[in-house]
Amino acid sequence: MPRLVLATRNAHKVTELRAILADAGLDADLTGADAFPDAPEVKETGVTFAENALLKAHTLARATGLPAVADDSGLCVDVLGGAPGIFSARWAGNPGAPDADRANLALLLAQLADIGTPHRGAHFACAAALALPDGTERVVEGRLRGTLRHIPEGTGGFGYDPILQPDGETRTCAELTPAEKNALSHRGRAFRGLVPVVRELLG
Ligand code: IMP
Repeated sequence: MPRLVLATRNAHKVTELRAILADAGLDADLTGADAFPDAPEVKETGVTFAENALLKAHTLARATGLPAVADDSGLCVDVLGGAPGIFSARWAGNPGAPDADRANLALLLAQLADIGTPHRGAHFACAAALALPDGTERVVEGRLRGTLRHIPEGTGGFGYDPILQPDGETRTCAELTPAEKNALSHRGRAFRGLVPVVRELLG
């Protein structure tokens, strides 16, 4: 069974990724970065999701000597030319604050207040990266396309989930069950795409 470290200290993300990889049939021993308290925090200096995901994966692979996986994700709004994009977590300027998600969402809704539904297309994007201690690297990207609501709906999920209604759905991402969201989501798609790559490189 391949051993993988996941570049996040967020227990929710470790659980979510375990479920995605298990559903995709990958029997891996997945450990969160929490188990390596000396591993350095990574500054997200990249300008694309892929660059940031690779930065996080390489840093952790070097620090632990183990194959590492990382992701970077965000919301890309058509009428804003793809913003907030890599700035999604820091859009309202205070990423560490306890109400950062709510502030980011409120600012985005205010910016789009005058834009009608036909022009509210957007997608969630995720880059999933694998880095080996010898420097080998792979990235797979996934997207979830939809339309932004004017009023948030639903209590599940996080971030911008209450305003993105996936194409073909009548509910927002925050109204889907975790299993329904994983089946559709940018993160689910990216990590399911990474499974054959993990198998190829790690057996
Ligand atoms: P990161 O990948 O943890 O850096 O996430 C970046 C930011 O993108 C999050 O703080 C959210 O604002 C947004 N985001 C990424 N994925 C999702 C999602 O699945 N639902 C809602 N917001 C998301």
